Amino acid sequence: MDNEPDKTSAHSHSHHDHSHLDDTALRVRSLQSLLIDKGYIQQETLNTLIDTYENKVGPRNGAAVIARAWVDSSYKKWLLEDATAAIAALDFTGRQGEHMVAVENTPTVHNIVVCTLCSCYPWPVLGLPPSWYKSAPYRSRVVIDPNSVLADFGVTLPEGRSITVWDSTAEVRYLVVPERPANSEHLSESELASLVTRDSMIGTGFAKPVSSLT
Ligand code: FE
Repeated sequence: MDNEPDKTSAHSHSHHDHSHLDDTALRVRSLQSLLIDKGYIQQETLNTLIDTYENKVGPRNGAAVIARAWVDSSYKKWLLEDATAAIAALDFTGRQGEHMVAVENTPTVHNIVVCTLCSCYPWPVLGLPPSWYKSAPYRSRVVIDPNSVLADFGVTLPEGRSITVWDSTAEVRYLVVPERPANSEHLSESELASLVTRDSMIGTGFAKPVSSLT
């Protein structure tokens, strides 16, 4: 894969919320430090593994779905009507993807996905959620003031665009269909897929411009 990790991801954001670590997170953390102390695993390896699923493997599935929708209008129609089936047709199935809903960005509507309760996320198409997605500030602020959250991600919406925030649940997981980049008519499906970032499928970013292909 020739895709660069998404440069718009918000790793510099101070959204991490260490005060709300739940029981499971605490247990995982102590198990992790035990395994590292004993020399069974290395932090570096863990980080690489997590990065792979957060930024590479996972979101590439979603990007393939989006690229297909961009080039095939009947597939897009199917995706918007029955995302679970349309995504399964590309063989992306599994836990946390049982009931998918795709929402399309247009010149008038921008969609953003959150899970206000916890961290529900469409694993089969996006992989593991980034840490900011699970953070309390993102989950609470995006509902109240989505524009300021977008500003934190360096995203400014064009004039006249309303924002719809979709709250995931244990039953329903959302996938944003970002707008196809301008002047991308000549691109192949795989070139198009390489323009689809993880954040653009959550709604905290746009697809990359054609010029980024070099
Ligand atoms: Fe959740």
